[in-house]
Amino acid sequence: MLGSGLGGRPLLEVPARQGPGALRYWLPISHNQFFQLNRSNRYGNVKPTSQDSLTSYSDNIMLQVTLLLKDFEEKIQKWYIEIAELGRVDNMLTELRERVLKTSQELYRLQMARGTSGNVSARDPESGLIAITPSGIPYEVLTTEDITIVNQHGKVVYGGQIPSSETPMHTAVYRLRPNIHGIVHTHSLYATVFSVLNKELPVVTVPLAMFGPVPVAGFRLPGSQELADEVARCLGSRRKSVLLQNHGALCADDTVEKALNCAIYIEEGSHVAYLALLAGGLNPIPHKYVAMMQDVSGKGRVL
Ligand SMILES: [Zn+2]
Repeated sequence: MLGSGLGGRPLLEVPARQGPGALRYWLPISHNQFFQLNRSNRYGNVKPTSQDSLTSYSDNIMLQVTLLLKDFEEKIQKWYIEIAELGRVDNMLTELRERVLKTSQELYRLQMARGTSGNVSARDPESGLIAITPSGIPYEVLTTEDITIVNQHGKVVYGGQIPSSETPMHTAVYRLRPNIHGIVHTHSLYATVFSVLNKELPVVTVPLAMFGPVPVAGFRLPGSQELADEVARCLGSRRKSVLLQNHGALCADDTVEKALNCAIYIEEGSHVAYLALLAGGLNPIPHKYVAMMQDVSGKGRVL
């Protein structure tokens, strides 16, 4: 039963199956493991004593090794299932990361994000995993591999980069709103101007009816849990956008592409509102019409 293996380790020869043509494995185990295996009752209720005969001692070993192999087989089957699942998750994560990258590049192309400011994320509806832009990497050199995967508590589960410093803000919104699957946070110029004014952005343009009026979340330190809590509180159960006082804007929607769309309209609306203020004053769309347009957009019609 015992042979000599590589590095002087003893080898234990065991049959994998009974019957003719049965495979035999050589398990490299140490003397200690050999005796521990025998003493352990994990694989059978067998505890040999000094009174055991050589035969029963050997039978005990065989019984335990057979059970050990059965355990191995079950583990291997589980690994196969896990590997197949990992393959599926890997495909899904690649797609999610590509969408986050594409949205980030579009944000940069539209000059709504500069340098490393702002951040973008998307959540996979099935697994709940979140793909988010990394911290400190400029948009122009960002690649799919840089997009980091975190869980809903911000813990990195995949990817070699540090996730965005505003990850707590993204995960707070995802935890609060199960139907939100995309978030875009910008420091875009006119939305930030409105956030500095610390005034709610009224519905001054037709597209803003879908996202406004946009309240201002109070100033908190960037990247802090306090900011995450304040933004989540301000967003509440229905809103898709908030301004962050002296900071920028956050848009959340059921996809990351829609969240980008929201950010574009918030920026456009802020620009219009800013120019209107300079030119003499704001005239928001009357509330009853805003309600009617929201009703129309809620039924899937584009305004
Ligand atoms: Zn920011």
